[in-house]
Amino acid sequence: MKPVPHSESHPSAATSGFLPLIESKRDGRELSADAIAGWVRDFTADRIPEYQMASMLMAIFFRGMTSAETRALTLAMRDSGEVLKFPEDPRRPIVDKHSTGGVGDKVSLPLAPLLAALEFRVPMISGRGLGITGGTLDKLESIPGFNTQLEPARLVEQVQRIGLAMAGQTATMIPADKKLYALRDVTGTVPSIPLITASILSKKLAEGLHALVMDVKFGAAAFMQTEAEARVLADAITSLAEACGVRTHALITDMNTPLGRATGNWLEVRESVECLENRGPEDLRLLVVECAAHLLRLTSQAADLDEARALAARCLASGAPRRKWDELLAAQDADLDAFGRQLSRDPIAPVLLELKASRTGFVSCCDARVIGEVVRDLGGGRLTKASVIDHAVGVDQLAKPGDAVKSGDVLCRVHAASESQAETACRRLEGVFAITDSPAVSPACRA
Ligand code: URA
Repeated sequence: MKPVPHSESHPSAATSGFLPLIESKRDGRELSADAIAGWVRDFTADRIPEYQMASMLMAIFFRGMTSAETRALTLAMRDSGEVLKFPEDPRRPIVDKHSTGGVGDKVSLPLAPLLAALEFRVPMISGRGLGITGGTLDKLESIPGFNTQLEPARLVEQVQRIGLAMAGQTATMIPADKKLYALRDVTGTVPSIPLITASILSKKLAEGLHALVMDVKFGAAAFMQTEAEARVLADAITSLAEACGVRTHALITDMNTPLGRATGNWLEVRESVECLENRGPEDLRLLVVECAAHLLRLTSQAADLDEARALAARCLASGAPRRKWDELLAAQDADLDAFGRQLSRDPIAPVLLELKASRTGFVSCCDARVIGEVVRDLGGGRLTKASVIDHAVGVDQLAKPGDAVKSGDVLCRVHAASESQAETACRRLEGVFAITDSPAVSPACRA
């Protein structure tokens, strides 16, 4: 069937011109690239009312989009604002990583300086946390003075100079995604593969990337509950990104258990610094190295994945990424002395409470979803977009599946703003850990 064109796009006709497109999508017909570009333009310019766009989003949610439609939507969203422009330099490819989000997922923090130390350029535009999944910007803002608001020209200059920048989307970049995402959030239309694909890729394509590694999470604390669902999303993103000229690989990783042993904004920055200093949890180090290795392979900087992994691991162990981290902080206005003082204080939250094991055995479950909810309710995450974050709170020293524990050992530490909040959190966390006689992972903790 021939795709439906967008007949009119001038302000007075946008509303009436949009209705037949909603009806077409409702009836399962394919929309033309021009039609999609037209309504993205009109909606961004406030020429289509939200009630009509809500209806279109729901029609897309139920009817889906063809790959041609998803591509048209992605490109129209990318082109709704400013696209970063970097000077050509084949020796320094422009790369990034994107995660669909999880609990304790701080990979971007050690990864970006590692990539810069490997001579990539990394214009990492990140988001804030919502619900139980953390956001890179919130974590960075737990660093005294760190400025996450960089104008595109400053961001490009910084990436050219030191190899990386980590900042939020500015008002001039991808405004269509900002408006559409806010509407999806309140209309039950977030979990749609074409809409997620377009939302993520429009932002990544606006960075002017050569290569992208995606970390698509599945499990109790992820967007996608099952590995099969995560694979469908990963395939949709990978094939569209490749069609748009960005070399892309998607990792599919488990989010039934938190990544690393700390969750909460400042606690995750601390753990990231440990990773950059060859300390800290092995699962975090492995995922950081894996992401870097795929980018080395995608950009032909290594002959194969094994060589790429060895190169990335050597670079991480060399201390160069730790020095890059300090360069990043200095470039983005952080107070390095205050940061150093904060690192040497533990805890920085007013109250610290330990949860102890009531029996001896092996940890077989450490439920990421509940831990995410507890950290959010301690003030470390947002219940609404207007919520104010407490960067100091969280949970660390988490016991993870496979760990042997004795009765009385610490299962985790709760960092809280008050005694009563710490006690409530500890009570909720008691149900998070399962301890069994043998070191098996409980089925509830598997995908
Ligand atoms: N992350 C995004 O940026 N967009 C989505 O739609 C979902 C996750």
